Order: sequence, then structure tokens, then C-alpha cells
Amino acid sequence: MLELGGFTPLSTVDWPDRLAAVVFVQGCPWRCGYCHNPELQRRGRPGGPRWPAVLDTLSRRTGLLDGVVFSGGEPTADPQLPEATAQVRALGLQAGLHTAGIYPQRLAALLPSLAWVGFDIKTDFAGYEALTGRRRSAAATRRSLEHLLASGVAYEIRTTYHPALVSDPALLDCARMLKALGVRDWVLQRWRPRDDTPSAQVSGWQWPGEALMQALRAHGPSLTLR
Ligand code: SF4
Repeated sequence: MLELGGFTPLSTVDWPDRLAAVVFVQGCPWRCGYCHNPELQRRGRPGGPRWPAVLDTLSRRTGLLDGVVFSGGEPTADPQLPEATAQVRALGLQAGLHTAGIYPQRLAALLPSLAWVGFDIKTDFAGYEALTGRRRSAAATRRSLEHLLASGVAYEIRTTYHPALVSDPALLDCARMLKALGVRDWVLQRWRPRDDTPSAQVSGWQWPGEALMQALRAHGPSLTLR
């Protein structure tokens, strides 16, 4: 059974232009310094919602929702995700996914079942291991991104800007890399501090300076700030 860390019955912001329920899947093997949901990283955490109860709730809200987005954590870490996705689609709802591309083969197998993917790009590939705390994280992400771009599934590529963990040169390299891979649109989103995360001591938070913004726009995909 899908292991859950949370459930939001209705969201207008987690899937652009869709009314969606959000299912937070428990577990992620990476340890990003700015992770906003560190309580979702470890598997086997008791007390989360039960998937059958969530599915029952979804079955009674089909007329109110466009779809269900699986978020996390890293949803593809759970081997039950394909079955859960099929169950959602059997209700007549679309299925969306938030992923960091940690498991390329699982993502490739799941893509035909998905209507939309929100894909996290952490930084330039050279900086991945330092940010995620995991070896080979850049290679996995790259393969996943290639699967996504080749699939034709609608997507949003987004990067969290953290002033201490994503340097200006790394962000610019990231912009160039995405454009070279054929990404057309890119969302740069604010890191949201939490008091209990290791990176919360960063002060004086701000967006990149104007010179860097101009460079990002000149060398990267079409940029949206969020
Ligand atoms: S990939 Fe996402 S869920 Fe996993 S540690 Fe990084 S920010 Fe947190």
C-alpha cells in the first residue's frame, strides 16, 4: 500500500490551471539542505493517512477535482505508485507528479499514465551531489529529464533559489544547461525558510541581482519568478 505522509483535499497551486488533490508520499533518499518537508524523507514513519481512506475520499470528489498530484518526499520512491496512479485514473481523474527525477526507469515507466509533471532541477549538474548529499544524483536527474522531454507529457521545470546553496555561477550554468536540453520554460521559485531546517540561518534573503537576472534571461529558457 502507498505510504503517505499527508493529504490535501483541494489545492489551486500544486498543479497549474488545475483543481487538484495533493497526495504526499512518504520517503525520499536525498537530503537536500533546503528541503521544505524533511519529515517526509524517512520511510516507515507512523501516523500518516491511509491510502484506502484517501482513495475513498477522492472517489466522492470526482466532480470537484481535475486531478490528483502525487508529491512528497519523492513519490517514485514508493513501489506502489504505479498502482495508485492507475486507481486514480480509474476514478476518471488525471494524475500529476512532483518529482526530482531520482529514479529514471520508474519515471519512464510511469510517464504514459501522467497528464503533467512538476520536475525539480536543483542546480547545475556539477553541483548536484553537494546539494542533494547523494552520489550520482546528477546522472539520475539528467536521465529522468531526458525521459520527460521525450515523452510529450506536459511539464513544469522549476528550481528553488537558495542564496547559500545555489551560487550565482551555478544558477547561470543551470540556465544554459536547461536551454541546451531543449527546455522552453523555467520557473525560479523562492526557497521558503523553516525554523527547524539546517539552512534556516541564512539571512538577508533576496532574489538574484539584476545582472544575474539579465544573464539568466539571455542564456536560459523563458523565466518565471514565483
Ligand atoms: S529531493 Fe525533495 S523531498 Fe527529497 S530531500 Fe530534496 S527537497 Fe526534500
